Amino acid sequence: MDEAQAVIIGGGVAGASIAYHLTDLGWTDVVLAERSDLTSGSTFHSAGLVGQLRSSVSLTRMMMYSVELYRRLQTETGVDPGWHEVGSLRLASSGERLEELQRLAGWGRTFGLPLEIVSTEEALDRFPLFDPRGVQCAAYLPTDGYVDPSGLTMALAEGARRRGCRILTGARVNGMDVREGRVRGVTFEGRGPIRTNVVVNAGGIFANQLGRMAGVEVPVVPFAHQYLLTEPIDGIDAGLPTLRDPDRLVYFRAEAGGGLVAGGYERRPAPWAWDEKGPPAGFNNELLPADWPRFEPLAEGCFGVIPAMESAGVVRMINGPEAFTPDGEFILGESDIGGFFVAAGFCAHGIAGAGGVGKVMAEWIAEGRPELDVWKMDLRRFGRHYRSRTHAKDRASEVYATYYDIHYPGEERRAGRPLKMAPTYVRLAGLGAEFGEKSGWERPNWFRTNEDERFEELRPRGWAGRHWSTAIPAEHLATREGAGLFDETSFAKIEVTGPDACRFLQRICANDVDVSPGRVVYSQLLNDRGGIECDLTATRLDPVRYLLITGTAFGSHDLAWIRGGAGPEDDVEVRDVTSSLACLALWGPRARDILSSVTPADLSNLGFPYMTQREIVAGDVPCLALRVTYVGELGWELYPPTEFALRLWDVVLEAGRPFGLVAAGYRAIDSLRLEKGYRAWGADITPEETPLEAGLRFAVKLDKGEFTGRDALRLIEVQGPSKRLSCLVLADPRSVALGNEPVFGDGKVVGRVTSGGVGYAVGKSIAFAYLPTDLATAGTSLSVEVFGARVDAEVAPEPLYDPTGERIRF
Ligand SMILES: Cc1cc2nc3c(=O)[nH]c(=O)nc-3n(C[C@H](O)[C@H](O)[C@H](O)COP(=O)(O)OP(=O)(O)OC[C@H]3O[C@@H](n4cnc5c(N)ncnc54)[C@H](O)[C@@H]3O)c2cc1C
Repeated sequence: MDEAQAVIIGGGVAGASIAYHLTDLGWTDVVLAERSDLTSGSTFHSAGLVGQLRSSVSLTRMMMYSVELYRRLQTETGVDPGWHEVGSLRLASSGERLEELQRLAGWGRTFGLPLEIVSTEEALDRFPLFDPRGVQCAAYLPTDGYVDPSGLTMALAEGARRRGCRILTGARVNGMDVREGRVRGVTFEGRGPIRTNVVVNAGGIFANQLGRMAGVEVPVVPFAHQYLLTEPIDGIDAGLPTLRDPDRLVYFRAEAGGGLVAGGYERRPAPWAWDEKGPPAGFNNELLPADWPRFEPLAEGCFGVIPAMESAGVVRMINGPEAFTPDGEFILGESDIGGFFVAAGFCAHGIAGAGGVGKVMAEWIAEGRPELDVWKMDLRRFGRHYRSRTHAKDRASEVYATYYDIHYPGEERRAGRPLKMAPTYVRLAGLGAEFGEKSGWERPNWFRTNEDERFEELRPRGWAGRHWSTAIPAEHLATREGAGLFDETSFAKIEVTGPDACRFLQRICANDVDVSPGRVVYSQLLNDRGGIECDLTATRLDPVRYLLITGTAFGSHDLAWIRGGAGPEDDVEVRDVTSSLACLALWGPRARDILSSVTPADLSNLGFPYMTQREIVAGDVPCLALRVTYVGELGWELYPPTEFALRLWDVVLEAGRPFGLVAAGYRAIDSLRLEKGYRAWGADITPEETPLEAGLRFAVKLDKGEFTGRDALRLIEVQGPSKRLSCLVLADPRSVALGNEPVFGDGKVVGRVTSGGVGYAVGKSIAFAYLPTDLATAGTSLSVEVFGARVDAEVAPEPLYDPTGERIRF
């Protein structure tokens, strides 16, 4: 039987780039299988714009790498990808848009993206045809451009071919051989199967169908996306920068013949062939019929930006399907089926992203992990509910329709809600909960009934004050002074059981989890580089059973990481038990008084010490109680079987009234944890940082024996980390950094904010950032750029709140 190291399905730009990069890493026995011809999917009808500035640092870095690659491809492969580095302009026609550009420019500076804000006149010099009325300024990025999508694909495929990749066209995959949780091969229509341990699904709009062949749900949703090409217009030449006017929802680029390519993101998107059946099997090298009525509002936008377009004839309209995702981010990575990878859902920027996608995927396949933190793009961020095609379609439609909108921090998506609700949901709603959504779960951000006008003077300036409420400081301070009751049922819960549970967890956890039953351990799980893959608590329930608790959004990610760490020699079972347990957290100095009034259990510090667990009964409700905190106060997380949760909520809330207990939400948790210096995974700590850099050395036991990441940490400890997560306090307590703002020292960018907010008890605006070690000492004066304005900041000793930890240990 035919064999290969890897079979990549899909000869679009993504598949070709993965083949290019995988062969570059030395995997020569690679097959690129395309059912028709190369570039016969979305790639062939792309507009080819390459814009690098994106929603996350990693994605932007991937785009920056793409540009680097496109510049050199011709020399390397002899095939011209048609790269034109003409620069790009993004217009700002409102005060908010100007603020957005300033924020983006600051952010771009933190990783060397040469983005500058230019005056309207300067922008006109570069692109003389736009109407300057109402335009306040523009962002100019000289290294953006456009590329010929087919040329690019052919160049990448040629690079791969030269290094041994076999390119099979007319090779339609019709099945996957999956056994014992691993992919073993692929089968084709009309040709023999190929045995392989690595399959990459780069099937574009067919990625969902291909995924289902392996039992993997890939929630891509095809949308019809349109642009038109005009006849030549005076003043248009191929050297003009690309142009975007997000307020009018449109983008442009010049064509070699002097015409304009103009497209955009309409408010009423058109999902296409999105249901269970998926796109028709024979849809190749095809376009959809032009949909003029749908383009009309975009045409208006185009004429508003470039009046000369109004009198230009249209050569043709391109209407082609493209794979979008429910959250507007790519879908990359390995699935729960070992060796089955996915690279799809490029949301109309797959040409710009292809270089980076190929590199990340090749590293993932060949080295186990990509170098960059790509959690936001990881396939495993989607929960089971994305098996619903309607839900995926509704979410993706909202993302498409609001693509060019300014997304203010704290903004919530609306489509497909509510879906996952805690048993307390109706009660929380009755208490005026303002719900946010995380991984499908409805979670209270704050309670309107806690609003208190006295705190209005604390409202953060600018954007940070938009999705904000006086209830946040009210709940924060009530928790510090009395107690807060938080519903955290959405926490992901994983049970690890079996004779080898302890030995296995010792091998994948950085902390020592070989503790006596009843103890709770806070630990990170590391990759081989020492980077933080998971951040959780492990509770030893009995000698052969652990309960791991991790963040709402990280359940499937952590589950996959943990399962991936288990070998055939490990006699363990790893189960997701999220739905079986609710979680109510009671925190605050009065927590013991409150809980004591509803339970006969000994809650004294001696009888129930910090970081331990007991089975208790509270108000007739049996629950597992963990004495832990994420807010820096005395308290317990109570885990009753789900069906008891509502009763427990009522009992505890009622009992707490005389002690000043309030129902409180997630925004208060965030401000509480910030001033206590607790790290948030995905923001402050990621697979790119180690515990030594993140200030989590206390949770690492280097001498406990072998564990993943130990050798890397040992080396870093000897050399000394080059950066450290530091706590900055801003001089103006109402200027709030939200994440990604540049940090300046001596006029140079020295770091980037990982997370920020206000600590209402300490009365300070706080921002975390990784700083070079010589600057990471208390008292260092720096500044943080918040919406274009430099705000003085100082590195503060950590934590700001309760540095001795006495409030959690009494
Ligand atoms: C109108 C329009 C304009 C766009 N403009 C831009 C732009 O300006 N900039 C930008 O960056 N992006 C743009 N995009 C998006 C970009 O074109 C896509 O993101 C990109 O081409 C996707 O590449 P891909 O390789 O994932 O998918 P595709 O190119 O669709 O490749 C998937 C391949 O998989 C093959 N396949 C499917 N099923 C099987 C099977 N069973 N067996 C074997 N092979 C199979 C298909 O035949 C296809 O060739 C645009 C898209 C559209 C529609």
